Amino acid sequence: MIPYGRQDICDDDVAAVAAVLRSDFLTQGPEVPRFEAALAQACDVPHAVAMNSATSALHVACLALGLGPGDRLWTSPNTFVASANCARYCGAEVGFVDVEPDTGNMSVADLAARLAQAELDGTLPKVVVPVHFAGLSCDMAGIAALARRYGFRVIEDASHAVGGRYQGEPVGHGRHSDITVLSFHPVKIVTTAEGGAALTRDAALAQAMQRLRSHGITREPSQMRGEPDGPWYYEQLELGFNYRLTDLQAALGRSQLARLSDYVARRRALADRYDALLQGLPLSTPGRRSGVESAWHLYVVGVDEAAGATPRRQVFDRLRAAGIGVNVHYIPVHWQPYYQALGFRRGQFPQAEAHYRRAISLPLFPTLGLDAQDRVVAAVREALRP
Ligand SMILES: *Cc1c(COP(=O)(O)O)cnc(C)c1O
Repeated sequence: MIPYGRQDICDDDVAAVAAVLRSDFLTQGPEVPRFEAALAQACDVPHAVAMNSATSALHVACLALGLGPGDRLWTSPNTFVASANCARYCGAEVGFVDVEPDTGNMSVADLAARLAQAELDGTLPKVVVPVHFAGLSCDMAGIAALARRYGFRVIEDASHAVGGRYQGEPVGHGRHSDITVLSFHPVKIVTTAEGGAALTRDAALAQAMQRLRSHGITREPSQMRGEPDGPWYYEQLELGFNYRLTDLQAALGRSQLARLSDYVARRRALADRYDALLQGLPLSTPGRRSGVESAWHLYVVGVDEAAGATPRRQVFDRLRAAGIGVNVHYIPVHWQPYYQALGFRRGQFPQAEAHYRRAISLPLFPTLGLDAQDRVVAAVREALRP
């Protein structure tokens, strides 16, 4: 089976992890700050706070922005559930904004319409979480303009998008947002097995997130309410968590990060090649935007059943039977039983739902060979036959 995504682990990665195993610190040692410095450099942002998952980073980012009971967070329904769940962890309400049909990214037009209505209703969101679907940045300038007008904060869920660029700057630079969250799960662009990070230009937000990932504790005298009793002294200032990344993982992450631009270049070359090889077939290829370079986490094609093509389910089953490990991204979050129980209904976000009904994610990862890609394309051609 050719999987839809796969990590790339080289000898340098193994050596980096082995060196930490033999060192004095398996966690809370020097590797986490080194990884954070490398991340900050790669994304051209002053502060990176590493955590044990993107889910943890989303939670801590929401808390740092003051999200709490009575507040609202809006995100895209075309995402993994974690982008919405972070609001629920904080006791806040979730709302969704529909997506653009060709990119699957949050629609700025739909966001503007919903904000205008929410202003009348007194239900404006405190935080909006655009998701850079498949690695392509959302229209962040458009979202930032609305953030200024309506006074909400922005967390970019860039779990798919490290190594991508938006208007000449790396994703994570943060010109148009408060915080950017990354994931280092093995199917993503670079991996620490489990892991994530929150990036920000704001020193106070970075400090708040550093505390929240480690029990709400500080060892910095300048942050303390009282006088330190001695060198051992720490203070817990608020209720935090143990969301720390280990030094083993940070070493793996830093070793992987050295290949970030190679990874993205390879993914882009494969995506361009898919675009060319799939031309003329009855399916849509991923939408692109000028000034935006995708990190190409996913390559999602659309099978348009309504236009008389072979049903998506049949295409999917034929591809799996042919040994192609296709997947589907994403089941609309508001369709999940948990969110249905909160009052969401099918049909509420028609573009995200249409996207889901058409979507098939084809294999895309840096070590996918051209022969294997040719096999995928041949299988797609075969699977689309009536
Ligand atoms: C993978 C993913 C997450 C969660 O990442 P973890 O590191 O597994 O917690 C959140 N949002 C999106 C869009 C993702 O793809």
